[in-house]
Amino acid sequence: MKLTCLGQWGAYPKAGSANSSFLLEEDHFHLLIDCGSGVLAQLQRVLAIEQLDALILSHYHHDHVADLGCLQYAMMIQKQLGYRNKALPIYGHGVGDSKFHSLTYKQYTEGLRIVAEESVKIGPWKIEFQPTRHTAYCLAIKFIGSKRTLVYSGDTGWSDELIEFARGADTLICEASLYEEQHGQVPGHLTAREAGQIAAASGVKQLILTHFPHYGDHRELRAQAQAVFSGELELAQEMKIWEW
Ligand SMILES: [Zn+2]
Repeated sequence: MKLTCLGQWGAYPKAGSANSSFLLEEDHFHLLIDCGSGVLAQLQRVLAIEQLDALILSHYHHDHVADLGCLQYAMMIQKQLGYRNKALPIYGHGVGDSKFHSLTYKQYTEGLRIVAEESVKIGPWKIEFQPTRHTAYCLAIKFIGSKRTLVYSGDTGWSDELIEFARGADTLICEASLYEEQHGQVPGHLTAREAGQIAAASGVKQLILTHFPHYGDHRELRAQAQAVFSGELELAQEMKIWEW
């Protein structure tokens, strides 16, 4: 299993970078996780766009879907050029004011509904979902591979359910939008310390922090998580690769 970070930013990307997003690969299957601003450009640094097999979305806030329309145009162009012959599956939930209807674009992309109570098979993975505590309906996503289990938090505030959901996983990719000093000030997001506490309580071996703020020193995020989590801890950074 190979995980590539395409960007690590919350809200909007820094110059030349992208919102928090990851490319997951196993058995030559390429799955994009979230598709915010800058992701399409970053993706093409590591993968020919026609080789993308599927996209999965945690929720529909702009910093997770901003590049969706251009990705759909890319699929159209690739098909017209003869490089692709089938629609790109795009997995997203259909709850509340979701933009699920926008996931299908002509014959180029096909929206497929994901539901919290139902697991799905995508490529080589069994995938499960858990609603998070966010300002919009959002799903945390568990990828169960042949050798490793990954959990991606999506956007969330403190969540006992996320602890249970991540229990037994190898890696937790967790949002850390806030510094400890901001605890309780921003609903629907985690401080780095809380991300560390969730990782520790769930017993994961590895914590990857992502979805960073545009201020402060991210080394402090790391230190604040490290104060409560003794496992392997890393900050997401564009083009960083993990292989297991
Ligand atoms: Zn969000």
